[in-house]
Amino acid sequence: MTHDPHPRAAAGAPAAVRPLPRSVAVFTGSALGASPAVTEQVRAFGTSLAQHGITVVYGGGRVGLMGTLADSALAAGGRVIGVMPESLVHSELAHTELNDLHVVATMHERKARMADLAEAFVALPGGSGTLEEFFEAWTWGQLGLHTKPVSLLDIDGSWGSLMTMLQDMVEQGFLAQRHLDGLIVAKDTDSLLDQLSSWTPPQAKWT
Ligand code: AMP
Repeated sequence: MTHDPHPRAAAGAPAAVRPLPRSVAVFTGSALGASPAVTEQVRAFGTSLAQHGITVVYGGGRVGLMGTLADSALAAGGRVIGVMPESLVHSELAHTELNDLHVVATMHERKARMADLAEAFVALPGGSGTLEEFFEAWTWGQLGLHTKPVSLLDIDGSWGSLMTMLQDMVEQGFLAQRHLDGLIVAKDTDSLLDQLSSWTPPQAKWT
């Protein structure tokens, strides 16, 4: 299925459909991981974002799945913005072909800048850094500090065990069902883009 990046403008578009985000912050591994199939799907995701005119905002690295994502979006003519702390730039881990590289002082500044530049958040497979970025974006949304959709692209079931854990949190009374329901979980890019277009923020935690 092909998505119109501006569905509101399309004749007869349902009122509930909102435009696709113009930019997405993508969190993903600085390692490639063990599965070539995952790498391939990350590549396809980067290509699809570019084809939909969605700017990629990411950690700015040239290594691992992060590098795969950036390379694929750039190769498809997309716009890619990296946000990196000085320390990682000096380690020569920065991607050198990006449309823009924001160099910031700290990891905290980096996450804040990525959040400012993006209209939605997506976590692809990754490690602890990916999880940390995902949880901050999602938690801040629950607190009403932003109203941008947060999503998991569940490539090859990579987020299955996390979903089980989050469901356990609901059952134990630590996480509201509405906040779990407000988290977008998609098996593929088309489903993700559909859900981003129909998402509405759940009621914030303390209201
Ligand atoms: P991890 O999932 O632990 O590999 O960490 C990946 C996430 O942390 C990415 O989304 C980046 O924002 C950040 N990160 C970790 N390592 C690097 C690196 N070498 N270059 C740029 N960003 C990194």
